[in-house]
Amino acid sequence: MDVAGERIERLHDLARAAAADGDADRARYYVRLARRVAERNRLTLPLAFRRFTCDRCDAYLRPGTNARVRLRDGHVVVTCDCGAHARYPYED
Ligand SMILES: [Zn+2]
Repeated sequence: MDVAGERIERLHDLARAAAADGDADRARYYVRLARRVAERNRLTLPLAFRRFTCDRCDAYLRPGTNARVRLRDGHVVVTCDCGAHARYPYED
C-alpha cells in the first residue's frame, strides 16, 4: 500500500479511537483529514471508512451511540444523529 493509503488507514484508526473515547470533535477532525488525503491523492476511501463516516457532517458513526442501523428491503440504512441517511445493499 502506498504512503497516502497508509495515512488514510491510520487516520481511520485514530477517528475510530477518538469516537470510542466519546470525543466526536476529534473523530470528525480525523475523518476530514482522511477525506482530504484521499482527495489530494485521488484515492478511493476504503469501504469501511465510507460505511462508518457521515457524508454530511463527517461524524465517525458508532451504531447505538450516534447512528442507528436498520435493515429495510434488503438494504442497510444508517441514520446519523445529524439526520443524514446512508443506504447500502445488504450483500456487501
Ligand atoms: Zn451526520
